[in-house]
Amino acid sequence: MNVFKEKHALKVYLSKLKAQNKTIGFVPTMGALHQGHLSLIKKAKEKNDLVVVSIFVNPTQFDNKEDLAKYPKTLSNDTKLLESVSCDILFHPTVAEIYDKNIISKKFDFDGLEHEMEGKFRDGHFDGVGTIVKTLFEIVEPDKAYFGKKDFQQLQIIKKMVKKNRIHVKIKGCEIFREKDGLAMSSRNARLSKAHREAAPFIYNTLKQARKKFGTENASTISEWVEHLFKNHPLLDLEYFTIAEEKTLKTIKNKESGKKYRAFIAVFAGDIRLIDNIRLKNN
Ligand code: AMP
Repeated sequence: MNVFKEKHALKVYLSKLKAQNKTIGFVPTMGALHQGHLSLIKKAKEKNDLVVVSIFVNPTQFDNKEDLAKYPKTLSNDTKLLESVSCDILFHPTVAEIYDKNIISKKFDFDGLEHEMEGKFRDGHFDGVGTIVKTLFEIVEPDKAYFGKKDFQQLQIIKKMVKKNRIHVKIKGCEIFREKDGLAMSSRNARLSKAHREAAPFIYNTLKQARKKFGTENASTISEWVEHLFKNHPLLDLEYFTIAEEKTLKTIKNKESGKKYRAFIAVFAGDIRLIDNIRLKNN
């Protein structure tokens, strides 16, 4: 695996490969890699000649300084994992290489997607995400880029950004990779206490039950039921639960035929914030 810390050197290297008509798949990450990340990389390997993975903990997408400071960094293990899936290129820049001295986000208009769910609770988060993903796309210029549905709102926002800015990258959404007990894999899971880790599968179990209820009950009743469940939970604090349309991410009260819906949830397990979502059937 070739490792680059400098964008210019990476661009020069990639331009030679592009001149040989090699297709490039790109997987942006913040590191502390797990099987969820690897599933994206494997998909990218299948569909492209070469895969570039970036590891960059992007400061401008964190509204919480402590979360940024405590974000796990496991580069030597990440390198081993990347080699185990035959990743071709790792881009691991410093903050200065990406932002120089100006560590601020650009402002984006994602047609309102940025104001729903995570946007309500993480101030400026999606401007930070837009800034880093656009910058990385300009450096790597991939054919395809792979994002997890674990961060479904992020995936929709990136699709919107690419469309609005006419960026020539195909955005591929990948299914959520879970632990055996159903907990969605996340770099933050490693920071959970033993008790919180044991409690955390409650989140996905609740989503599965909500999916079942969606067949017969309306969205507001399901939301109230979830809120009640978490009120009685000794270890997990609900930040939000909502049933929303996939396209607009707007919360719904009642379902309409022909539309696609998902249930989205954010939960605090101690000071660790976990998110998850599930596709709902709409017959
Ligand atoms: P992160 O390093 O958390 O920024 O994640 C990098 C990419 O991996 C994003 O596109 C995430 O949505 C994706 N990802 C993270 N966890 C999972 C998971 N459990 N299943 C699928 N994709 C994931």
